[in-house]
Amino acid sequence: MTKRLEWVQQELDGLKEAGLYNRIRTLESPQGAWLTVDGKRVLNFCSNNYLGLANHPVIIQAAKEALDQYGLGPGAVRSIAGTMALHLELEKRLAAFKGVEAAITFQSGFCANLATIPALVGKEDVIFSDELNHASIIDGSRLSGARIARYAHANPADLEKVIRENAGTYRRGLLVTDGVFSMDGDIAPLDQLYEISNRYDVMLMVDDAHGEGVIGRGGRGIVDHFGLHGKVDVEVGTLSKAFGGVGGVVAGNAQIIDWLRQRGRPFLFSSAATPPDVAACLAAIDLLEASTELVDTLWENARYFKAAMKEYGFDTGHSATPITPIMLGEAPLAQQFSRELFDEGVFAMALGFPTVQKGKARIRVMISAAHSLSDLDQGLTAFKKVGLKLGIIH
Ligand SMILES: *Cc1c(COP(=O)(O)O)cnc(C)c1O
Repeated sequence: MTKRLEWVQQELDGLKEAGLYNRIRTLESPQGAWLTVDGKRVLNFCSNNYLGLANHPVIIQAAKEALDQYGLGPGAVRSIAGTMALHLELEKRLAAFKGVEAAITFQSGFCANLATIPALVGKEDVIFSDELNHASIIDGSRLSGARIARYAHANPADLEKVIRENAGTYRRGLLVTDGVFSMDGDIAPLDQLYEISNRYDVMLMVDDAHGEGVIGRGGRGIVDHFGLHGKVDVEVGTLSKAFGGVGGVVAGNAQIIDWLRQRGRPFLFSSAATPPDVAACLAAIDLLEASTELVDTLWENARYFKAAMKEYGFDTGHSATPITPIMLGEAPLAQQFSRELFDEGVFAMALGFPTVQKGKARIRVMISAAHSLSDLDQGLTAFKKVGLKLGIIH
């Protein structure tokens, strides 16, 4: 190793010594209730495949047909020659599904945030940001050059205080929050945030990555959940969680969407999702519009699992969604719990600092409509066994 690169090995060694080096497991099967992981069949409690669409036969068929009709690559960035009829159809259908004027798609939810925030605010502006917002909101905010004023998590009173403290110091204001917070599964108080954004005349943006396909009528997301149609300026979303594919979306006010087609840099300088991705997402919307069955099953599964875990004596935090944290305290305990579960044939991630605060390490269980009742029972049995063994429950 050359001298100028020695620091890399030192950094990696440092992570390993601190127990923070992430050893990523390899999947040898499609996403679903069960996975083959490092050669072992395990029950899957890790993925964001809320509705089981990642490997759904209708979705796969749609992607195959798009491959035959449009081929694989979009061939260019969309603003030059990469916008296909399929991309525009998806945007129309997403806008209709969300009940908004217009939508624009991106390569991912991460890109959607990187595109949107710098297009809305710049150096003379301020962003009011929930302290637990997703990394892509933080990065998009930094990229914009706007001042970032953080407020206490999901706390409208603190938000109002921060807005007042900044009064008169900015040109435009943008209030931005996750809709569903992925570590705790709690929902942002969007109705109250809307009132405040209105009172102080700041733009309102919500990132609904974990809410789409999950909350609201038939999975229409957080704006629908609170009945705030037409009131939220920008709704960011992902097609990689409940929708089962890959891609990002921004939905909302028609002028903002038009502006993003002119100024959203990942739209202008990076190629679009491929035709099979887009067709898969269209098929996912068809399924969601045809029936609420998958969303209903997801919630039934989540309620069943949470109730049993509480009855066993686990602390499942304050989630209001199918995201189920099992609070354990210190990171090494959470890691040990996860390893023991894996030995029992259950794949569930331990999350510790810096993903969550120190002392708030946990196992995060992601419930899916793909789980059968017997899958859930099998998972519960494993949790109970490991919980008793490690003295978490009695
Ligand atoms: C997962 C997630 C993203 C990123 O979505 P991708 O489509 O995977 O890039 C963005 N924001 C939030 C809040 C998320 O949970």
